[in-house]
Amino acid sequence: MSNNHYDVIIIGTGAGGGTLAHRLAPSGKKILVLERGSFLPREKANWDTVEVFHKDRYHTSEVWYDKDGEEIRPGTGYWVGGNTKVYGGALFRWREKDFEKVAHKGGISPEWPLKYRDFEPYYTEAEKLYEVHGKRGTDPTEPPAKESYPFPAVSHEPRIEEIHNALEVKGLHPFHQPLAIKLNEVNRRLNACIRCDTCDGFPCLVNGKADADINCVRPSVDSYNNITLLTEARVLRLHTSESGREVTKVEVLVQGQRIFFSADIVVVSCGRWKFLSF
Ligand SMILES: Cc1cc2nc3c(=O)[nH]c(=O)nc-3n(C[C@H](O)[C@H](O)[C@H](O)COP(=O)(O)OP(=O)(O)OC[C@H]3O[C@@H](n4cnc5c(N)ncnc54)[C@H](O)[C@@H]3O)c2cc1C
Ligand code: SF4
Repeated sequence: MSNNHYDVIIIGTGAGGGTLAHRLAPSGKKILVLERGSFLPREKANWDTVEVFHKDRYHTSEVWYDKDGEEIRPGTGYWVGGNTKVYGGALFRWREKDFEKVAHKGGISPEWPLKYRDFEPYYTEAEKLYEVHGKRGTDPTEPPAKESYPFPAVSHEPRIEEIHNALEVKGLHPFHQPLAIKLNEVNRRLNACIRCDTCDGFPCLVNGKADADINCVRPSVDSYNNITLLTEARVLRLHTSESGREVTKVEVLVQGQRIFFSADIVVVSCGRWKFLSF
C-alpha cells in the first residue's frame, strides 16, 4: 500500500470536517485532513470593522457565476476551522419538524430518513465539544434534550436585560441564545472571551470562540500522531471507478504541487458552496 494511502481522508476543516477529525482521532486510524486554507492569522485587523467587512480581509476574492452567468461574490473564507472562524457561535438544535417534509418558498425540503431523536445524543456531544452556554426550558420552541447545556447561559448586556424583562411583562418568552463561547462569568480569570464589541462575522483575536479550529483541529493534531493535517492543500478533483461508485484518487494541489492520495473512506466536508471553485 502506498504511503499516500489512508484509512480516511477528510476534505475541509470546518464545522463538519473539523468535528469529524476530532471524533475519529482516538480511533487510531490513519487519517489525512486536507484543508485549502491556512491558519487564520491573529492580528489587530481581526476586530477591525473596515478590514473585516469593507475590505473583505478574510473572504476569498474569487468571483463565481450562477446558472444565469450572474456574478456571485461568495463571502466565504478558506481557513482552518472554515466558516466557524467567523461564525456567531449561536448553536441551536434543529427542531423535530425540520426533519419532516418542509415546504419552502423555493421548493420542498424532503423528509429525512433519520429523525431528531436519532440525532439527540450527538447534539448533546456537540454541545459539550463546542462549550455551548444556554438554559433549557426557556425557549418555547426547543426540542426535547436529555441533558442541560454544559455551561450556564451568557448574561445579558444591561439594555438587553431591560428588553428581556419588558417582553416577559407582556407575556412573551425571550430566551438566551445558546452560544459556543469560552466565557466563565463566575471566575473571570478562566475566560478566553473578553466580551468585546465584535463577534458574529469577525475572527476572534483572543481565541474566545469555541470553533472547529480551536476546539477540534488543533487538539486533535497536537494529541494524535495518526492524524496528518495538510494546509494550503486544495482538492481539485475526485477520480472515480468506472461505475462512479468508488473514489479511486483524490487530486490535490499542495502548496503549488499536484499530488494524488487515496483512502478507504473519503469524506467531502468542504462547505455548502460548489466543491470545485476556481
Ligand atoms: C458570518 C457567519 C456567521 C455564522 N454564524 C453562525 C451561527 O451563529 N450559528 C451557526 O450554527 N452557524 C453560523 N454560520 C454558519 C456556519 O459557520 C456554517 O454552517 C458551517 O461552518 C458549515 O460547516 P461546513 O463544515 O459545512 O463548512 P465550512 O465551515 O465552510 O468549512 C469548509 C472547509 O472546507 C475548506 N475547503 C473548501 N474547498 C476546499 C477544497 N477544494 N479543498 C480543501 N479544502 C476545501 C474550507 O477552507 C473550509 O475550511 C455562520 C456563517 C458565517 C459566514
Ligand atoms: S472576545 Fe468573545 S465576544 Fe469578542 S469575538 Fe471573541 S468570543 Fe466573540
